[in-house]
Amino acid sequence: MFKNKVLSEGCVDFIDDAKIEALIKDTPEDAVKVREIIQKSLNKQPLSVEETAFLIKADSPELTEEIFEAARKLKRDVYGNRIVLFAPLYIGNYCINDCKYCSFRRSLRSTVRKTLNEGEVVQQVEALEDSGHKRLILVFGEHPDYSAEFMADTVRKVYSVKHGQGEIRRVNINAAPLDHEGYKIVKNSGIGTYQIFQETYHHETYCKNHPEETHKGDYLWRLDGLSRAFEAGCDDMGIGALFGLYDWRFEVLSLITHSLYLQEKYNVGPHTISFPRLRPAHGIQFDEKYFVNDHDFKRLVAILRLAVPYTGLILTARETAEIRREVMQFGVSQIDAGTRLELGGYSEDDKEEQELKREQFSIGDVRTLDEVMSELIKDGYIPSFCTSCYRLGRTGEHFMEYAIPGFINKFCTPNALLTLSEYLEDYSSDKTREKGYQLIEDEISKIDQEKIVKKLRERLERIKKGERDLYF
Ligand code: SF4
Repeated sequence: MFKNKVLSEGCVDFIDDAKIEALIKDTPEDAVKVREIIQKSLNKQPLSVEETAFLIKADSPELTEEIFEAARKLKRDVYGNRIVLFAPLYIGNYCINDCKYCSFRRSLRSTVRKTLNEGEVVQQVEALEDSGHKRLILVFGEHPDYSAEFMADTVRKVYSVKHGQGEIRRVNINAAPLDHEGYKIVKNSGIGTYQIFQETYHHETYCKNHPEETHKGDYLWRLDGLSRAFEAGCDDMGIGALFGLYDWRFEVLSLITHSLYLQEKYNVGPHTISFPRLRPAHGIQFDEKYFVNDHDFKRLVAILRLAVPYTGLILTARETAEIRREVMQFGVSQIDAGTRLELGGYSEDDKEEQELKREQFSIGDVRTLDEVMSELIKDGYIPSFCTSCYRLGRTGEHFMEYAIPGFINKFCTPNALLTLSEYLEDYSSDKTREKGYQLIEDEISKIDQEKIVKKLRERLERIKKGERDLYF
């Protein structure tokens, strides 16, 4: 697929397994140190890998609760009570790799393979727009059919679909690493975030799960993937690890190492971090040795929140509704909702059972978008479909200029309320509409700048009269 695999300038394998294992083993439990580190986070300063190791070591009930409470506070201080919503759209599940944990692996003949054609992409996007979505992440297996040109054409096709009041305003991609030329091609199609998960940063475990002769068997090509994307001009990057393949503590310290490496090299860290847990999948037997229990899952989300104050944290529908409800308070900023993983599933009637032969893994939260919206509003969150930063060029390094001084609140909450009102006008159930408009009034009453309130009310009135896509 790539004539010459040219790595990024000065590319190095920055994951030192021995150093990370030593941090896990030798970092002492030190309550005084932990409280100092928590204070540093609450001052919105990113943590070092060593400092993050102290938080991981702090597993006493008392210190764990202090870490939880600090994560809740930092979430409120940086992200307010907004939760950004998106939906994944699988485009094709042919794959040349043979990852041990994946139902799309090439050696699994019983998996139902499909690539959506143009008409089917339009059909899926119309169904997603009709449910109220405005932000999508397109997912591709790794296969010569899914070239950078193919992905770019698909992105443009998705943006071109306008159904009723519906439109998709931000398209992210989760796909295999590309070469510099490939990233330029997808960048020019108008993508938001390019997401690549290392799956596991532990070298030996990586080799065990990704056969050497497969493309994905090249650890460094993948680890360097987003560095090449930055060099090719992409702005927003998403990193992640698949929790359950190896020790969660190792993966958390590696995610922070990766984040600091990008910050150091490109002056901007990842836009988002994802932390999916292994889920039952068609044709896959898991070794449960490193499965992450719910308590440790909450700890790792809270610790990530404290370690990278300005990086978005994505919690997907892999998790059950109950776990999502609990974990969200610890600093999650984005979730998917109304998710269907079967290729072509969004235009099909809802089914009792998930068809695992058509899915990469089973999901835990199968609620509709409106059901998720209703619960978020009940829990005091503002569901948001905001895309204004991306469309006003407040991305990558430029986003940080806004995010760090706290200006973002002047934009985020009003924009979230505007996108929520669009949803309430065009797509919501009566129950959600009533609660939604009550929430909007409650949130407006908290805004102390008269000027913003006046502009916001003026735009909300225009939305009620039929205008759309109004933002700050
Ligand atoms: S995880 Fe991705 S690369 Fe690996 S087999 Fe599945 S779809 Fe292919």
